[in-house]
Amino acid sequence: MKKWISLQAELGNFHQRETIYVFSLKMSFLAVILSSVILVLVLPVLLLLGLLPLPLMDAIRYGVVFSWLTSGAISGALAMLSGSAIHDLSVSRAEFERLSRTDALSGLLNRRAFTEALDSIDEVASLVIFDLDRFKAINDQYGHASGDAVIVAISQMLANIFGAEGLVARLGGEEFAVIVCGGSADERLARVEGVKVLVSESVIPIDGGEVRITISAGVADIWPGQKKEVVYAAADKALYLAKALGRNRVVHESERLQPAWQRQVVDGEDADINRHFSNSEAARYGHGI
Ligand code: GH3
Ligand code: MG
Ligand code: MG
Repeated sequence: MKKWISLQAELGNFHQRETIYVFSLKMSFLAVILSSVILVLVLPVLLLLGLLPLPLMDAIRYGVVFSWLTSGAISGALAMLSGSAIHDLSVSRAEFERLSRTDALSGLLNRRAFTEALDSIDEVASLVIFDLDRFKAINDQYGHASGDAVIVAISQMLANIFGAEGLVARLGGEEFAVIVCGGSADERLARVEGVKVLVSESVIPIDGGEVRITISAGVADIWPGQKKEVVYAAADKALYLAKALGRNRVVHESERLQPAWQRQVVDGEDADINRHFSNSEAARYGHGI
């Protein structure tokens, strides 16, 4: 019985109020049937013992009507109350789960939710890590609230562009991650280039003025069965290269494999690359430390 009731409760999924009414109705119906069965079994025994003050059929009839009125109403009301409490709990649990996966400032997925989503991706896609360029200067010049306004504006831009078929997250600070699905690797890269151009051409309103900013991105391809930490590390290094190469730039992981002399490296920034790459990588790519 206990199992049956909890199964009804689970199947009822108390997110919707109508399911509470259905649950209460089922429970009161069950209570009435049970009490009727008990009456039918007990009343003949009472008759045999000489304890029944009225004819058996009348006693059964009154008993059943009484149980419909009392047990039905009482158990229905109790089921309604408990269903309501379960509904409130399940709604607040769903809200709690949503909040625990959402970045409060931007409304995008947070790092934890994004990592889970990335781990579950099992199709060809691209991982993009975006980072705003020289963002600290905005905070320093216009204040933290203006910095927040810029983060929110860029978040909305990314959600509008990729939100429908991709996953968009704020990893922290002014760093974002997107999983771009669909199309060829080149098409996905072209979309990321498009974002870079859009950001650089946008004028972002802040309290009492407006600012311009640029964005850099590192892109790595995701293949089924590939370790996601490896993909993440590749995108992160590509981003670092984008910064070192002068910012306002999209770098695909494959560009890291090109020797430095084939790249257009901004004077003085190449040292940054060396710091980020391990010794062996630096040697492989022609960057001594
Ligand atoms: P780079 O081009 O190398 O990325 O330079 P940057 O200035 O963007 O990077 P840096 O990491 O030096 O600065 C990031 C700044 O972002 C530092 C931190 O104070 C600020 N920041 C982090 N989280 C928030 C936030 O939630 N709101 C605001 N307004 N600023 C934040
Ligand atoms: Mg930055
Ligand atoms: Mg950053």
